Amino acid sequence: MSEKKKVVLLGATGSIGSNTLEVLRELSATLELYGIAGNTRERELGAIAREFSVPRAVLADETAWSRAKKDGAFPPDTEASCGEDALIDLVTDKRADIILVASSGTSALRPTLAAIEAGKPIALANKELLVLAGKFITVAAKRKKVPLLPVDSEHNALFQCLEGRRSTEVTRLVLTASGGAFLDRPLSELDRVTPADALAHPNWSMGPKITVDSATMANKGLEMIEAHWLFSMPSDRIEVVLHRQSVIHSLVELVDGSILAQLSPPSMTFAIHHALTYPRRTPTTRPTLNFAQSHRLDLEPVPLDRFPCLRLARQALEAAGVAPAIFNTANQTAVEAFLEGRLDFLEIPRLIEKTLDRFDNFEPRGLQDVLNLEQLVRQETTERIDRKTWKKTS
Ligand code: NDP
Ligand code: MG
Repeated sequence: MSEKKKVVLLGATGSIGSNTLEVLRELSATLELYGIAGNTRERELGAIAREFSVPRAVLADETAWSRAKKDGAFPPDTEASCGEDALIDLVTDKRADIILVASSGTSALRPTLAAIEAGKPIALANKELLVLAGKFITVAAKRKKVPLLPVDSEHNALFQCLEGRRSTEVTRLVLTASGGAFLDRPLSELDRVTPADALAHPNWSMGPKITVDSATMANKGLEMIEAHWLFSMPSDRIEVVLHRQSVIHSLVELVDGSILAQLSPPSMTFAIHHALTYPRRTPTTRPTLNFAQSHRLDLEPVPLDRFPCLRLARQALEAAGVAPAIFNTANQTAVEAFLEGRLDFLEIPRLIEKTLDRFDNFEPRGLQDVLNLEQLVRQETTERIDRKTWKKTS
């Protein structure tokens, strides 16, 4: 019997993390969980280490690490450690076969680049990394001939539809969007919505940041930029269509007018399964689409007036340079503030727009340019939120 594929999972305690664990339970004959990383939830990470007998674990947060040591959160057979260097050591471990990047935020940037340098295939859930530093990640992956396997369901669908196609055969990529929590809410009510309202997504159960991003459609904006980097496609050939049922995960139009689509139930397990077993196709016992029932598959134009974040993301993508990085960081800071009750929902796009206006665009020469800019933008947007001056001057 051939050896099992050893998976390292960053963000094991999160939403994509738990979907991945479900896939790993099912595919335990061929996949093995070799390493896990999390941030603050040491008990949950310890429980995963125990269930899967995971050889290596890393916590990012030092306070959680102190608690973990005091409480004996990890089983004795798991080699556990803390910090970025430990994470880089884990993702470059010569025994690791594939790294699934499903931590939130952008802290996995250096570890992901280190894993690429070490020649590890990357299954990428975290779109923010590509929006922040797509140029550096894709150039490094190409140079090292490392596959970037999309886990984001739309991009996983596009990847499947594009397989074996020449770029000259493709006219456009069409991303499907569910519309998020407020698609049918009267516009006049949006100034009163709460974080709890925004977190009630109709189709998907996901982490808090991406669920708010779905309600503003910043998520679809980030995904346009993600598609640009993954598939070398210009902005004017990446479209978005509203699809409330989240069954068609995206579409590819070919030059002869045919449109290919990928369908599966609205569960991230399908994309994760595909990315972890690629290039093979392996069977699943999870329920698939049942055609004994009727299904509606609606495709509608996006009501753009409801979703200014989508327009701003498109502008950032067209402006290129560091504009997408500015969009990403302003959005991240704004969403954190919204979730903490320090910013109104409708102020999220306003803050992003003001931040895009405030910073000059330029072409980053290296990763450090992007990291410095990220810090500046975060500082500036945090100050704006704290002072609320941007509100008074708008
Ligand atoms: P969650 O908020 O549910 O989980 C985030 C995970 O990241 C947790 O495990 C958290 O650890 C971990 N984490 C946070 N910071 C660090 C750090 N510095 N080092 C290591 N681990 C860290 O997020 P989601 O699972 O929803 O999303 C994760 C990523 O996947 C995002 O980039 C998102 O855009 C993308 N994605 C998610 C989808 C989904 O269905 N959820 C769909 C498509 C893409 P802890 O819990 O221990 O604090
Ligand atoms: Mg998606």
